[in-house]
Amino acid sequence: METKELMEKATRFHGHICPGLAIGVLAAKYVLEHGFKYSPNEEVVAVVENDNCSIDAFQALLGTTYGKGNLIHQDYGKLNYYFYNRETEKAIKLSLKSKAFGKKKLSKHERIKHLLDSKPENIFSIYEIEFNPPGLAEIEESIPCDICGEPTMNSRLMFYKNSSMCIPCYKAQRK
Ligand SMILES: [Zn+2]
Ligand SMILES: [Zn+2]
Repeated sequence: METKELMEKATRFHGHICPGLAIGVLAAKYVLEHGFKYSPNEEVVAVVENDNCSIDAFQALLGTTYGKGNLIHQDYGKLNYYFYNRETEKAIKLSLKSKAFGKKKLSKHERIKHLLDSKPENIFSIYEIEFNPPGLAEIEESIPCDICGEPTMNSRLMFYKNSSMCIPCYKAQRK
């Protein structure tokens, strides 16, 4: 698919057009052209180090979604994207170059155009990396919190004052 079509598809999901989404579209375009395809299940996993607009391009175009557990956010505030293909055991890292946004003076519209006219290779440093993806999403039993009664994933329950409780209840107890 051409960049333009990918951008349209991503925009339908994201809601608006913006430079961040354009960056995500270019990253998605690169991986789609280098041995990855849309992931209905967990064939592809994306690990991202920011939670900006760009991530929605991966949800829309690569099928790496928050709900399926094949989109993993590490809150480092860095513009790095890692993609792992479990079927081919191929892995790619894309790291946004500091000059990717173009000249400082560009308007938002010009910046989007500048990005969409760029080759992914020009705005990202791209590396083949070792295939060491995070584990598959686990389905876990939920157990009611002793305080609020709401079902809570077993691994997230806290044990405090002889009760098992969810994290918000634990925080409230500790105040
Ligand atoms: Zn946006
Ligand atoms: Zn609770």
